[in-house]
Amino acid sequence: MTVADPTPSQAPRPTIHHTACTLDCPDSCSLEVEVRNGRVDKVRAAPPDVAHPLTGGFICSKVGRISRHLYGEDRLLHPARRAGRKGEGRLEPISWDRAIDLIVERMTEAKTALGGESVLPLSYGGSNGLLTQDTADAILFRRFGASTLARNVCAAPSTAAALGLYGKMAGVALEDYEHARLAIVWGANPSSTGIHLVPILRAARARGGKLVVVDPRRTPLAKQADLHLQPRPGTDLCLALALHRELFRRGDADLEFLAEHASGVDELRRRAEPWTFERAAEVTGVPVRDIARCYELYSASSPAVIRCGWGVERNRNGGSAVAAILALPAVGGKFRVRAGGYTMSNGAAFRDVGRREPSPGTRIVNMNHVGRVLTDPNAIPGPPVKVLFVYNANPLATLPNQELVRRGLAREDLFTVVFDQVMTDTALYADLVLPATTFLEHDDLAMGYGAMVLHDTKPVTEPVGEARSNLRVFDELADRLGLLHDDDPRSEGDWRRAVLGRRRQRQLADEGLALPETGRRPIQFVDVFPHTADRRVHLCPRSLEAESARGLYAFHSEPGDGRYPLALISPSVPQTVSSTFGQLRPGQVPLEMHPDDAAERGLSRGDKPRARVFNDYGEVRCRVRLNPDLKPGVALLPKGVWARSTESGTNACALAPDTLTDIGAGACFNDARVEVEALAD
Ligand code: SF4
Repeated sequence: MTVADPTPSQAPRPTIHHTACTLDCPDSCSLEVEVRNGRVDKVRAAPPDVAHPLTGGFICSKVGRISRHLYGEDRLLHPARRAGRKGEGRLEPISWDRAIDLIVERMTEAKTALGGESVLPLSYGGSNGLLTQDTADAILFRRFGASTLARNVCAAPSTAAALGLYGKMAGVALEDYEHARLAIVWGANPSSTGIHLVPILRAARARGGKLVVVDPRRTPLAKQADLHLQPRPGTDLCLALALHRELFRRGDADLEFLAEHASGVDELRRRAEPWTFERAAEVTGVPVRDIARCYELYSASSPAVIRCGWGVERNRNGGSAVAAILALPAVGGKFRVRAGGYTMSNGAAFRDVGRREPSPGTRIVNMNHVGRVLTDPNAIPGPPVKVLFVYNANPLATLPNQELVRRGLAREDLFTVVFDQVMTDTALYADLVLPATTFLEHDDLAMGYGAMVLHDTKPVTEPVGEARSNLRVFDELADRLGLLHDDDPRSEGDWRRAVLGRRRQRQLADEGLALPETGRRPIQFVDVFPHTADRRVHLCPRSLEAESARGLYAFHSEPGDGRYPLALISPSVPQTVSSTFGQLRPGQVPLEMHPDDAAERGLSRGDKPRARVFNDYGEVRCRVRLNPDLKPGVALLPKGVWARSTESGTNACALAPDTLTDIGAGACFNDARVEVEALAD
């Protein structure tokens, strides 16, 4: 019998749900989801009466079209184990019970033979909710005695710098940028990530505010700016120090504020002293007149706010650069007014939220060195890694020195579990693949790190296939390994209580979202103060000084020996959140080059010529697109590209060194130096 498709009037009515986005994006949007026939149909911004105001009635197209991710052909539906060679991705289904048995067996074997540190959990902010990471997984791996992962691939230098200078202090609310007379967007591209800042900056300009953008590319926002500075990647530190020098030299530094609230003033002044505008111009490639114009605007404007993005940190000078930028509002006397100060991560607005499982004191594996650790038993002290458990992460597409990561994952004696929503590049190398739920299918908590909001998120639909939540899987594993205590949280409700505390939990139950205690729009040095031991800003904190080999604010010059003359940057793009949604990118991703650089290499003829981008770490074969908005000498491959999106199956990570930043031991993606050669079609 054939059943006719229902006409629109007969179609089942959708149910409407309100939740929030937990993805790794600053804005933490309030969402309205239409579910029809048990499937997510439409996702849009929640209406103003239930939404956090920053959402402003719109969301990004990535999440607007998330049903392609939820129900696409790459979605993992059932547990499966490897049935071919590593890298092939041939799988055969197994039951959840058998999968859990296998993991318990392999972890136990590894611990018995070599100790708990031979197990390495590897995760990052793929789901990013407060219940999907550092909860039941922390109980499992910490009590087991596994190696500890330092999640340093992103934000580690920025976090170290911000904590060193200010402790956990909330920044300027993004909504308040509308009141700024000057906004400097430094190393961030809100047209791709954190999109809600764009209309706010437009509104600020409509009110007469000025906009400065610091970025080696002419981003969409830079095209609207009053001033665009294009420093060479890795030289932002010199620019910031030149501004400090001039503030002190011209008597524009707010010495009264500094005397009352800061330490390390003389030390910062001394370290900035060599950085004249001329010297900064020579190193950064930014004309002296533009540096001087930036200085004039910053010193003369109030309120003046700096949005410091994570693009600044991704190089050898990254930690010092962020510290120098965040120190500018203190030296320039920009705090104590609405829209005056800085914004980096606003996660500090919710200091009271979270639960910490005590550290077992096991060895620490820096995420940026996973390739080394998996391929060289002498890379760090302790046993070789025999079991790798990957969740909320796609290391093959996101970690530097991609070729080493690939070789490590290809080791036949390594038992790799990948617990993910879709069949990632990393999952192709897994011995066991487990299907995970998305934030629309499980309980979670979304905390903004741009928007100052905490949302309760509830599942709006049943999990697809046999997908399970992180809480459920890690709880079961911890139980099977005998690691649970009687008073441990077990259910979603227990975990909510443990992470939130009773007061916050009541607040969320009543209102669906919670704001910081200081309110949604705190003023720095009026409502919020440094959370350092003495409540002062530390402009040259001892902790950072001790960490950096040559001292804080010391400039490390151009990396490499000149054989690879182009600086490769790999910024975020609108299509993905890091590598999440990378499977949905249509077609091939080109390398972007300035037309002059392309012409020098015979790459300016024809339609998207083929090229090989290479250095000592690896190569990417792809098409070339000419982009006059790039600074000459800078090439671009987007972040988060999957193997299917380039001819060689490699991405910018194949060219990224696994060296570390000056402070924070972070990744130096933008220290990739490459050459490009034309290939025949
Ligand atoms: S990814 Fe960002 S902009 Fe998109 S819905 Fe989530 S929070 Fe909003």
